[in-house]
Parts: sequence; C-alpha cells; structure tokens
Amino acid sequence: AKSNHLGEYVFYNQKMQDSFNERMVIESHLRDAITNQEFSLQYQPQVNLHNGETYGFEALIRWNNPELGFVSPLTFIKVAEDCQLIIPIGEWALRTACVFIKNIHDQGYEGYRVSVNISVVQLMQDAFTSMVLTVLEETGLSPEYLELEITESIIMESLERNISKLQLLREKGIAIALDDFGTGYSSLSYLRQLPITTLKIDKSFIDSFLGRNGDISITSSIISVGHDMGLEVVAEGVELEEQLSLLKELKCDKVQGYFISKPIPSNEVVNWIESQVM
Ligand code: C2E
Ligand code: CA
Ligand code: CA
Ligand code: CA
Repeated sequence: AKSNHLGEYVFYNQKMQDSFNERMVIESHLRDAITNQEFSLQYQPQVNLHNGETYGFEALIRWNNPELGFVSPLTFIKVAEDCQLIIPIGEWALRTACVFIKNIHDQGYEGYRVSVNISVVQLMQDAFTSMVLTVLEETGLSPEYLELEITESIIMESLERNISKLQLLREKGIAIALDDFGTGYSSLSYLRQLPITTLKIDKSFIDSFLGRNGDISITSSIISVGHDMGLEVVAEGVELEEQLSLLKELKCDKVQGYFISKPIPSNEVVNWIESQVM
C-alpha cells in the first residue's frame, strides 16, 4: 500500500494541475464573454400549485464560447466568483432579465415575475443595492416583479453585513428567496432575522420522495415552518407527477422542474404563456 502511495500522490497532483489549468482557460475566456455576447439567459417557468398557473420564470445563465462550446454555470460561476468577474456578469444577467420581463409585460402579458440568481460576491459589494435599484429604474421594471435568489449557505457566512442590504431591497418591494434551502446550516432563529419572502426547497429533498425508503418528512417540516413564518415555499427539481401530487398534499405553494418545463430560450416564453392560458 505504501508503494502505491507515491503514485496516488503524483496522480492527485496531476489532477490538481489539470483543474487549475482548466480554471485558467475558463477565466481567460470569461474576460471577453460579455463584450463578445457569449452569454444568454434561459427561463424556467414557475407554477403556483394552488391554481396551476405560471406566475414567473427563473432566469438561468448560459455561456456558449466559440472555443469551449457550452460551459455549465456549475463550472464557470465558481471561477467567475473567484476572479470577481461575477460582478459584471451578474449585473448583465440582472439587467437582461429585467429588460426581458418588462418586454413581456409590454406585449400584454402582465404580472409575470422574474427570479434572478445572485452570488454572494455580488451581495458583498457596497454598491450592490444601488446597482439593483439602478437596473430597475433604467429598465422601468416595477420592483414587485423582481425576485432575487440567494443561496442559504452564502447568507449565513456574512449575515450581519448583508442583512441590511436585503432589508432595504425588501422594503422597496423586491422579493427575496432563500435558494437551495435545507442544504446549509441555518437555524430557525436565524431564519427569522432574514428579510426573506420565499423558501426554495433544494432538489435533493424532492428526490428523496422516491425509491423504497421514500422520505417526505424534511420537506413536510420545511413547508410547515415556512408557512408559520409567513413565507411562501417553492419546490425545485420536480421531475415526476408523483412528486408534484405529494407536494400538493403537503400544501407546498409553488413548483419548478422538468415535469413542468425545462428552462426555455427567451423567444419561446410567449409561446409557453399562450399554451398555458388556453
Ligand atoms: P439553481 O439556482 O439551484 O438552479 C436550478 C438548476 O437546476 C438549474 O441548472 C436548472 O436548469 C436545473 N433544473 C431545474 N429543474 C430541474 C429538474 O427538474 N431536474 C434537474 N435535474 N435539474 C433541474 P443550471 O441552469 O445548470 O444552473 C446551475 C446553477 O448555476 C444554478 O443552480 C445557480 O446556482 C447557478 N446559476 C445559474 N444562472 C446563474 C446566474 O445568472 N447567476 C448566478 N450567480 N448563478 C447562476
Ligand atoms: Ca436558483
Ligand atoms: Ca436551487
Ligand atoms: Ca443549486
């Protein structure tokens, strides 16, 4: 086993070197990606379980680079955070999503909301709140149609510094969702201090409904705690009818997932809306 050890060590280092190189390559291509118009947004419908209606869309970024092809946000967002490029990229995504949903309203489809993912690196910026308010002003979108999605773990890392920023945005009428809820370590007392409107239950809990040892207990308690606190509860990653009907029974408010629709390109959103209201 000892003689193996060195070999494994070298192998491990090689892997570290490879992933370091990969990150450098991604970072160098990310630098010009906004200017070269390599980003786009897709929109995933969000449905109200109480009446079955689509009420909004989550904006999800896509990156198509001429050399790298499509790179998953799961890969490049982390790199963009480490080199701060997430700040202009995140602002681009917010602005593009606000322009898009405003345009949907202007075409006569009023009332739809857009949810935009926000990185903690953005939230940490002193200028974050003014950036968001400026984007709303410049795009003419009323704050009630914007929701910011912030992951649970990142909020907890920097609660004091960021809570007042979220508070201010909340007071302006912007909705705030705690994304990937249940995967972090927030205690319920923490939750009470947060100026949030929505809990978004992580897909891993929705997945755990299924299989031989199917478990709905965590989801069920998240929903009741959320409701006790006056929050709306959204389930993400709903892929099967069985999951949807369990969520209905548990009185979950809203759902998102492949069972309803995958994220769709912007030019298909009006079609989606039309197909739902027939
Ligand atoms: P997320 O915010 O948790 O978004 C949900 C992810 O699950 C999306 O992946 C979505 O396409 C996918 N998804 C939705 N429904 C289902 C389903 O039923 N089954 C399965 N298997 N997957 C489903 P995507 O678009 O690849 O995004 C991955 C992550 O990248 C997002 O996770 C979010 O954390 C991040 N991200 C995406 N766009 C942005 C952005 O504009 N800004 C920031 N900061 N992060 C973003
Ligand atoms: Ca999200
Ligand atoms: Ca999520
Ligand atoms: Ca996630």
